[in-house]
Amino acid sequence: MEDRFQREINYLRVSVTDRCNLRCLYCMPAEGVPAAPREEILTLEEIARVVRASTRAGVRKVRLTGGEPLVRRGIERLVYAIARIPEIDDLALTTNGLLLPSMAAPLKEAGLRRVNISLDSLRPDRYAYITRGGDLKTAWQGVEKALELGLHPVKLNAVVVRGFNDDEILDLARLTLERPLHVRFIELMPFGHAAAIFAGGYVPAAAIKAQIESEFGPLQEVRKLKGSGPARYYRAAGAAGTIGFISAVGDHICRRCNRLRLTASGSLRPCLFGEHEIDLKALLRRGAGDEELAALIARAIKEKPPAGHIRSHRPAREKAMSQLGG
Ligand code: SAM
Ligand code: SF4
Repeated sequence: MEDRFQREINYLRVSVTDRCNLRCLYCMPAEGVPAAPREEILTLEEIARVVRASTRAGVRKVRLTGGEPLVRRGIERLVYAIARIPEIDDLALTTNGLLLPSMAAPLKEAGLRRVNISLDSLRPDRYAYITRGGDLKTAWQGVEKALELGLHPVKLNAVVVRGFNDDEILDLARLTLERPLHVRFIELMPFGHAAAIFAGGYVPAAAIKAQIESEFGPLQEVRKLKGSGPARYYRAAGAAGTIGFISAVGDHICRRCNRLRLTASGSLRPCLFGEHEIDLKALLRRGAGDEELAALIARAIKEKPPAGHIRSHRPAREKAMSQLGG
C-alpha cells in the first residue's frame, strides 16, 4: 500500500534473530550485543503469521535477515512457510554466508529464491580482522554454493571503510567481470558501533564509483535487477554481473524507500533511521486475527516519515545494526 508520501510500501525485512556467529567491527562490540531472552523473540510460527497478515497491507517481498539468519534453528521451516504464501512473490535472505555451504541446498528446496552475502574483503587475514574471526574460505564456499544452486541474482554486500578495505574496491568490482555476481558497495552508516569509526572510515559511494570508472571505464546504468530497492546498479563493459551502490549517507535514499522492518522481538519499525517502533508482539500474543494485525501493519506504513535523519550523523544509537536487520 501507499504511505502518506506516495511511496509504495511492499517490502518487509524480517530480523529472525539478534544473534550472530560473527562480530563485524562496524556492527557489534567484540563481546557481542546482549541477546534478548528467548521468550521475547518471535517464534517461527509467529513470524510466518505476521508475514501472512502483512500481505493484506500490500507486502509482496520478504527478506530474512538478522543478526545472522542462518543461526536461527528451523529457518528452513520458516522459508517453507513463507514461500507458500501465494501473495509473496519474492523471498530473499541476507547472510554472512558461513553456514551456506551446508544450508543453501535445504533452503533452496524449502523455497528460498535468492541470497545476499556480506563479504567485505577477499583477503583471509583481513576478513578475519573485520569480522573478528570469520573464515573467508568458508564464506566464499557459501558464495560458490549459491551460484551453483542458482540462487540468482547472487549479490555480495561490501561495506567500504577507509583504512580497512578501501584498497580492495577494484578487486571486489573485478568479481563481476567473469561471473554473474552483483557486488554492492554500501556506504558505512554511523550506527551504534560504527559511530566511532565513521569520521575516519566513511567513503562516499560517488568516490567508490569514480575509482571503479577510472579503471574499467564508464559504467552503464542497469535498470532492472530483482529486488533493487534503494541500490543503483551499473555494469562494466562486457561484464557478466553488476556493480551496485547503496548510499544512505551521501544520497538521500528515503524517497525510494519501499520497506518496513520487523525486529526479532516483534516490533515494527517504520524507518531504519528513527527510533520509533510499534509493538506487534503484544497484539499477536493476545490472539489477534489477521485483520487486526494487518491494521497495525498498515498503521506502521502510514507512520513512515518522509525521510530519516542519517545526515545529522547522530552518535551511537540505542540499537545495533544486528538488532535491526541492516
Ligand atoms: N548477518 C547478516 C549479514 O551480515 O549479511 C545479516 C545482518 S547484517 C546487520 C545486514 C547488513 O548490514 C550487512 O551487509 C552488513 O554489512 C550491514 N551493516 C551492518 N552495520 C552497518 C553499518 N554501520 N553501515 C552499513 N552497513 C552495515
Ligand atoms: Fe553479524 Fe551481519 Fe553484523 Fe557481521 S554484519 S556482526 S555478520 S549481523
